Amino acid sequence: MKIYTYDCIVIGTGAAGYNAACRLKEFGKNVAMISENINFGTSRNTGSDKQTYYKLSLGGKDSDSVFKMASDLFKGGCADGDNALCEAALSVRCFMNLCEAGVEFPVNRYGEYIGYKTDHDPYERATSAGPLTSKFMTEALERKAKNLGIEIFDNCYAAELIKKDNRVCGVLCLDENDEYSAFCCGDIIMATGGPAGIYGDSVYPECHTGSTGLALKAGAKAQNLAMWQYGLASVNPRWNVSGTYMQVLPRFVSVDESGKEYEFLSDYFDDKYEALSLVFLKGYQWPFDEEKAEHGSSQIDMIVYNECVKKHRKVYLDFTKNPFSLDEIDFEKLSTDAYTYLEKADATFGTPIERLEKMNSPAIELYKNKGVDITKEYLEIALCAQHNNGGIAVDKWWQTSIKNLFAVGESAGTHGIKRPGGSALNSGQVGSLRAAQYISQNGGEILSENEFEKLVSDYITQNKKIDVSEKIKKAQRKMSDCAGAVRDKKAIEKLLLDTKKELENFEKNSSRNSYRYYDILITQAAVLTAILGEKYQPDLIQETYLKDGNFINKTRAVRPLPDDENFFENVWRAYRENKNIF
Ligand SMILES: Cc1cc2nc3c(=O)[nH]c(=O)nc-3n(C[C@H](O)[C@H](O)[C@H](O)COP(=O)(O)OP(=O)(O)OC[C@H]3O[C@@H](n4cnc5c(N)ncnc54)[C@H](O)[C@@H]3O)c2cc1C
Repeated sequence: MKIYTYDCIVIGTGAAGYNAACRLKEFGKNVAMISENINFGTSRNTGSDKQTYYKLSLGGKDSDSVFKMASDLFKGGCADGDNALCEAALSVRCFMNLCEAGVEFPVNRYGEYIGYKTDHDPYERATSAGPLTSKFMTEALERKAKNLGIEIFDNCYAAELIKKDNRVCGVLCLDENDEYSAFCCGDIIMATGGPAGIYGDSVYPECHTGSTGLALKAGAKAQNLAMWQYGLASVNPRWNVSGTYMQVLPRFVSVDESGKEYEFLSDYFDDKYEALSLVFLKGYQWPFDEEKAEHGSSQIDMIVYNECVKKHRKVYLDFTKNPFSLDEIDFEKLSTDAYTYLEKADATFGTPIERLEKMNSPAIELYKNKGVDITKEYLEIALCAQHNNGGIAVDKWWQTSIKNLFAVGESAGTHGIKRPGGSALNSGQVGSLRAAQYISQNGGEILSENEFEKLVSDYITQNKKIDVSEKIKKAQRKMSDCAGAVRDKKAIEKLLLDTKKELENFEKNSSRNSYRYYDILITQAAVLTAILGEKYQPDLIQETYLKDGNFINKTRAVRPLPDDENFFENVWRAYRENKNIF
């Protein structure tokens, strides 16, 4: 087996991974990246109407400050104050790094980065480089990594973290032919993205499954694992149907196994115009929100879930006809918000597709380019998982509970229940910089090749290969049916028992798919445990981790927002003496 030695290994070639590797290289470290496939991952393969990057305000008249931004990141609840402060403090440095690397965030004629408001954002801190912001970030950082001469091992799947006592010292990998190789190193940065593969109904790109289980099985603590963002999305292609897709008031249709169609919203509302007003609201209240599930716009999410999961029907959006067989919509009967907006947009006429053509014609093109002509065809949708606000627990340097193992980007769990839209991309850039800063000053010991080889041999399995693709699909389906946005306690308890059994009887074999399936199962077991124990108190964080072979939950108080005495001369002296940093 081939063994490579580096100071540090970064797992993952998304926006967070590339930034981690570039920073480490710039700080003088001998770093390599490994990736199951350079072109996989959420950053490179996803987007939305106006994909958002959240940063400190850099334009306009309103005053902003690091402390204000940190407070906003913190006050969503269940988030640690030190991470929130770092995400605010390093926001400008990270954002400017992206601009300098070539990401085209728009400026006005004086160079101000004019922003807009996003959800849970009292200022106009959000910006966007268009529908593919995270793709542009990844590509710009990839160019930088190549210019810095960083070695990238493509088609290299990280299967196991190699441990010595309570620290990591290497990674065991599989190449495209399922042959083993290993990397011996002082530090590992996991930038493996969110655990997307645990759900069947998902708007994450199909190529992305994530590897949170890699850290969980090594014993790392996770936190806030039950906190997810879900919303309505088309399933093929995977894309959020937010914004104008809802504001033009499409027809919601479900189809049963015999092919019979139902325009089902009329079964749930006496007043058609109340239903349509809520559909309109879904446009800018995209994520499922428990507080809006009984009387607000998330009723629409619940209804779609009911049609899909409880009634086993497929649900579609039809843009070609007006809902409820209306020849014309009486727009004045909509809520004031909906009516005013559509009137301002000059869109109080015609069919949904005619309104979409008027309000946002690129939205039609987008689907055409992905193979669906919504001017003629139905678009299949579901209530899908989009983002895990929780993840692997990290400290203020994004180091996990296992020494020398860092988690950055969506694999880390630095967000609480509510996060401002766009803060995931900011967090990925800040976390990867923090981890690199720490490692550059406190690099872990690199074991001798002999000692490492002995350790690695314990992790290798040579069993026969079994195809587990169908098993993966079934596990994902079960998870979406009972433990997505709508959660059924009894069904979750049963699923957790079944998942534990599957893990106990797991026949390990040396194929990527087998490792991936194990990763999905162990992550599902952790998420299900977290869901069953969830309490949602804003000042508490729920940790989930393995103890004696079973996942347990433990709550702890959030780490408060730091309030240091910041007198410049004192900070400067301590900085010179390297005392206030680590
Ligand atoms: C539809 C959608 C819209 C979104 N919109 C926004 C938005 O507007 N604003 C915002 O802030 N966030 C948004 N997000 C979230 C954001 O895009 C992600 O959180 C972010 O891109 C994750 O980046 P990352 O670098 O952490 O991981 P990824 O980009 O997912 O990269 C993970 C990398 O790790 C690799 N990898 C994984 N496991 C292994 C393994 N075992 N071995 C080797 N390699 C491995 C993958 O192949 C990939 O290269 C959105 C997400 C979705 C799905």
